[in-house]
Amino acid sequence: MRYVSTRGGMAPLPFCDILLEGLAPDGGLTVPESYPPVDRATLATWRGLGYRELAFEVLSRFIDDIPAGDLRGIVERTYTARAFGSEAITPLRTFEPGLHLLQLSNGPTLAFKDVAMQLLGNLFEYELGRRGETLNILGATSGDTGSAAEYAVRGKRGVRIFMLSPYGKMSAFQTAQMYSLADANVFNLAVRGVFDECQDIVKEVSADLDFKARYRIGTVNSINWARLVAQVVYYFRGYFAATRSNEEQVSFAVPSGNFGNICAGHVARSMGLPIRRLVLATNENDVLDEFFRTGVYRPRSGAEVHQTSSPSMDISRASNFERYVYDVVGRDAGRVRELWRRMGAEGQFDLAGTPEFDRVRASGFVSGSSAHADRLRTIREVYERYGYLVDTHTADGIKVALEHREPGVPMVCLETALAAKFEDTIREALGRAPERPPAYADLESRPRRFEVLDADTAAVKRFIAEHVQGG
Ligand SMILES: *Cc1c(COP(=O)(O)O)cnc(C)c1O
Repeated sequence: MRYVSTRGGMAPLPFCDILLEGLAPDGGLTVPESYPPVDRATLATWRGLGYRELAFEVLSRFIDDIPAGDLRGIVERTYTARAFGSEAITPLRTFEPGLHLLQLSNGPTLAFKDVAMQLLGNLFEYELGRRGETLNILGATSGDTGSAAEYAVRGKRGVRIFMLSPYGKMSAFQTAQMYSLADANVFNLAVRGVFDECQDIVKEVSADLDFKARYRIGTVNSINWARLVAQVVYYFRGYFAATRSNEEQVSFAVPSGNFGNICAGHVARSMGLPIRRLVLATNENDVLDEFFRTGVYRPRSGAEVHQTSSPSMDISRASNFERYVYDVVGRDAGRVRELWRRMGAEGQFDLAGTPEFDRVRASGFVSGSSAHADRLRTIREVYERYGYLVDTHTADGIKVALEHREPGVPMVCLETALAAKFEDTIREALGRAPERPPAYADLESRPRRFEVLDADTAAVKRFIAEHVQGG
């Protein structure tokens, strides 16, 4: 299996050569040359597998440059009951017949990003060890992604992580979760500024190619293909858990921001998993809902982004979307270049009325959006009807899922975080704070380790140089 760029300007490469990279050199995203088909006979044998065995089967279709025994070892170290709370790893909870919740958020940071990041941490450690290289991950976070990345690489050999966060602007839980990490390879840089300034600093450091090469700077952002492929596994798992036979179809509802999670569903469907609909839910930032309703893709400016109570979906553009567009234009890299050129010039492109938009319709996607009041109502109703407390992002997904249910087709809603992470909004919805998993009870009282810096690229570079040179 080799990987190419959605813009057509990269010679095909094996998995491990794209693992440690961000964008393809031509500015596109890396995608497999084709999606490995899974036939009915294979589906039948996969139905009975546990999470780790299934993960190995799916991943080995995409990763053929790591020996099978090593890949198996990586998967077995990653998906443990200890890290994910149960042997099921992603258990299915049934609300009522035909309506389910796929619980993806029982990993170390209580959000679904752990499922992919924990694997990524082990893949990085393995590949860096094999090459005798080291990597210094630089990132910016407003909460979830940064902590999932830190928990994925803490204590790992060959890798350090420098994570910028806006000082004093994350939730108490998120702040404590990140700053309490004591591992020597984790550096929390609390920047006196807002998230956008943190992100700008990361961009400026990465644009300094000399610095980047000298200090071996890398990223773990949401366009990393390994993260996406790790997420494909739980669509198979969720399908098997919600059905009795491989003749049945299932729909999945996915709260979306950067289009990573639901793109994994698109990949699973393209491989042959019997998915009927992929129900995409946005919050007030409805770039993607607009596209699936109208054919217009119009990224927003920073000033147009709403700060919402499902903050991990507050995005101006959907960074993985280009992978999907590449498929709906028939994998024509020239057409992708043309669409992105038009977007650069005119701020948007429009597929309405084209055969490409017919392919969008045929790809199973439907969409909707959810606002603050919907979120509060959904959290309340799910709690009253089913006795289960969902987080704000998951609530957005369920709200839109209920608008797209069809008789006889099970609907599986993906749980992307636990309610405990978003205490303020839960209190607003229910009048009381959510319960926390016991292991997190003392989170805010743990010692913290972080460095406060000005929003100044030079200061961040200085910090990295000082802490990399030593070893
Ligand atoms: C990241 C995140 C999302 C959005 O996922 P994408 O893959 O970016 O679409 C939704 N919910 C939560 C809780 C998240 O952390």
